[in-house]
Amino acid sequence: MPTLLEASGTHISSQVLKFLNQPLKLLIGGKWVESASGQTFPVFNPATGQIITHAASGESEDINRAVQAARQAFESGPWSRLTVSERGKLIWKLADLLEANLEEFAELESMDNGKPISVARVADVPLAVDLFRYMAGWATKIEGNTIPISVPYTPGTQYFAYTVREPVGVVGQIIPWNFPLLMAAWKLGPALAAGCTIVLKPAEQTPLSAIRLGELICEAGFPDGVINIVTGYGESAGAPLAAHPDVDKIAFTGSTEVGRLIVKAATGNLKKVSLELGGKSPNVVFKDVDPEIAIKGAANSIFFNHGQCCAAGSRLYVEQDIFEQVVEGVAAEAKKIKIGPGLNPSTEMGPLVSDEQLNRVCGYIQSGFAEGAKALAGGQRIGEQGYFVEPTVLVDTKQTMKVVQEEIFGPVVTAMPFREVDELLPLANDSAYGLAAGIWTNDLSKAHRLASKLRAGTVWINCYNVFDAALPFGGYKQSGWGRDMGHNALELYTEVKAVCAKL
Ligand code: ADP
Repeated sequence: MPTLLEASGTHISSQVLKFLNQPLKLLIGGKWVESASGQTFPVFNPATGQIITHAASGESEDINRAVQAARQAFESGPWSRLTVSERGKLIWKLADLLEANLEEFAELESMDNGKPISVARVADVPLAVDLFRYMAGWATKIEGNTIPISVPYTPGTQYFAYTVREPVGVVGQIIPWNFPLLMAAWKLGPALAAGCTIVLKPAEQTPLSAIRLGELICEAGFPDGVINIVTGYGESAGAPLAAHPDVDKIAFTGSTEVGRLIVKAATGNLKKVSLELGGKSPNVVFKDVDPEIAIKGAANSIFFNHGQCCAAGSRLYVEQDIFEQVVEGVAAEAKKIKIGPGLNPSTEMGPLVSDEQLNRVCGYIQSGFAEGAKALAGGQRIGEQGYFVEPTVLVDTKQTMKVVQEEIFGPVVTAMPFREVDELLPLANDSAYGLAAGIWTNDLSKAHRLASKLRAGTVWINCYNVFDAALPFGGYKQSGWGRDMGHNALELYTEVKAVCAKL
């Protein structure tokens, strides 16, 4: 069993201590307020299981107030009168402020979510900065078309017809805990570029970076009520937001199970819905590839962010001839990973986010064993304190097993051999999900032929977990509706209005 790195290498900066030593409130209508009930909820450090602080626990009444503030900001506040250039500049300013506070955000994110600070520093925070800059640029480029029309029943009459793209209105955004800041950026960026106003509900496990972002939102000078942040539990704050009759659109990232609840809740006023849900992504290795490259790639695809990525390459399919070499290589990589508290600078993998997640992942590993799978690496919880699990490689798995079919959302990969593409393709596509897939081969025709047949929103060829603000991300099948990032995300936040004038 691997030993954990020490918590003693960790250091908490004075800025983070200052932030944590204040009451963490809700941002509604440009003011920091306590929840209407006065209730708070505990925020845990997943490396120790201890409480870091408490945050205001928003409920229906707070959601009502936040939606009202967002409605007012949308209909009649200064936001509605800004030029698109001014709107873009505000978003850019938020990116600058975030970048200036990169180190503090990396620390907060690591402490709250458990991820290595070294990763938050180079991935989570810079990607969020980049996303805001990318979307700031779009604010001035959301255009309609002029459209020549014929109208057969009014012969000889001329028309001038055009489309404009208008903001969809008040948007509710519910985000998960795996990339707390980045998910906030993915959601806020396009909604702001489009001119919407927002009520953001961060995950109860990881509210800290969103609250700190709220402070930067105020500092950047966004008008009151444009972005409201209501922390709280899913059922008490998320559900009323999804059901709210004055919310025009709800955007959700999280589990497929909650995604279904969101869809049901949205039916009351038929608000627009976009969903970025679970995944069970196949990662396919062909025998022509350099096994060392595929091994590193396969290990990164599942162990990055402790497997707590909806796009994680959790089903590894390797061509028979190199199967043993590759899975043993991935198992060797798994055993080398340095595990410890996220704030220890040497940590490569931190704890899972919560007790609940720990039990869920360990439960899946046990179910794999019960169905006949064997661990080439890992398979156990580490220690008694914090939520650490060994990076795990399961072999002797069958397609029908729970560990192959269901999303584990932890550092657990199942590996299976295949002989031919014709045998592989139905296995790779045999999933309720369709979020991402990986292909490792030097045969480019083979790679692109397979890419066209995989039912997945993202296909990575000879790479994995490559995310960029310009690259749309979202899922086929039960992995979701719509795309985050790229210019496609703007479609979620705009309505198309057709205007037709008789000349
Ligand atoms: P996980 O199971 O991985 O924790 P969830 O899908 O439960 O992911 O959570 C993602 C987000 O959805 C969180 O912000 C959570 O608070 C919120 N949430 C959970 N349940 C509901 C619900 N019934 N309605 C609306 N939001 C919810």
